[in-house]
Amino acid sequence: MHPMVKPALRRGWRDLNTVQFGMTPAHAMTLGPMDLASGSFLDLLNGTRGLELLREEGRRMDLPDGHVDKLVRGLAEAGLLDDARGGGPAADTLRRKKEVLDRLRPDLASLSLTTSAPGDAIGRLAARRSQRVQVRGAGRVGAVLASLLAGAGVGEVDVRDVGRVEPWDVAPGGLPAEAVGDRRDEAARRAVRRAAPGRSPRRAPAQAPSEEGDPGFSLVIIAPRDDVAVHAPDPSAAESVMSSGTPHLYAGVVEGTGVVGPFVLPGETGCAGCLHESRTDRDPAWPRLVAQWRSGRQRQVRPCDLTLATTTAGLAAAHALAFLDGRVPSSAGARWEVSVPALHWHARPVWPHPACPCAAAERGKGEHPSQDGESHETMAVQRPSERCREAEAERPAGTWRAHV
Ligand SMILES: [Zn+2]
Repeated sequence: MHPMVKPALRRGWRDLNTVQFGMTPAHAMTLGPMDLASGSFLDLLNGTRGLELLREEGRRMDLPDGHVDKLVRGLAEAGLLDDARGGGPAADTLRRKKEVLDRLRPDLASLSLTTSAPGDAIGRLAARRSQRVQVRGAGRVGAVLASLLAGAGVGEVDVRDVGRVEPWDVAPGGLPAEAVGDRRDEAARRAVRRAAPGRSPRRAPAQAPSEEGDPGFSLVIIAPRDDVAVHAPDPSAAESVMSSGTPHLYAGVVEGTGVVGPFVLPGETGCAGCLHESRTDRDPAWPRLVAQWRSGRQRQVRPCDLTLATTTAGLAAAHALAFLDGRVPSSAGARWEVSVPALHWHARPVWPHPACPCAAAERGKGEHPSQDGESHETMAVQRPSERCREAEAERPAGTWRAHV
């Protein structure tokens, strides 16, 4: 291990013996009491020295025996330490691809804020390269979303759509003006390749996705160009991903509203069918309206504010990445919505419905999926004050203090 105090967190002394790591309430922590010698020793924890060398440096600085190990252990337990050589074989491979890693350095630094164990951040980043994601829909939202995922290091992003690129599909970060008239799916795949920081590590044609709902996808994102499909997602369109148990996320723009969610863990969280049933419960006219919307052919270009589409694509991609990085995003069981012109984000719950064949409602009676394992950590990260309290409980009383 080559310990490194996470460089993503800016450091500052709150007083003579308390160090604050980080600036923002979401991730900042304080550490104390810290004497001046230990404080200057932190500068040596920059990833260039192994533990043996660090102990030697400690002796030279007259730090008491065992002090260096205690300090390193304490920092690691507080989630403030990274390992410049950790993360496993996939991380080592990524380190050797310097150009790729340089493109992803800000993303790596960001991952260091949401992972705790040394080496985890680069391990997660390297894991993205082996993920396969399918984006269904290559309009203003889908094409940008797919490009964002590729740019963030997801190894394989497949885009599905039909027809040819129309002038109004063009969006910065998505389909370029030169692609107008080209096949939409091919143009979107080109945009994905351009956005990727390197070649996809998986090139075997045998593994190329062929069928909708290919169970090999880590995640499927449903980003329809059709506004009715965004507002009232058809459960039958998600049959393949539901039956294969593939996690999927809805995103799109309808009229002046951007929608992200629900993120569906089939059989565990509310799905398109649950959403439809709940809406029918609340409004008996809902199925009648949906049937009319779906049957009415719309020839005109549908409303889709460019900035709203980009915002929606960005947030959806962030939720997708959160999942790919091992978390459960807050769109699980909810639809995040934002409308022009006020642009306040708010979440509408999507509860599992007992009449939906997905059976999430049955499961919901037992333990909620966000209550165990990895996802528990997620919740803690989303509620930093609680995370700090948990972190505080792990360390000797009075030695470490969490900053909220
Ligand atoms: Zn359901």
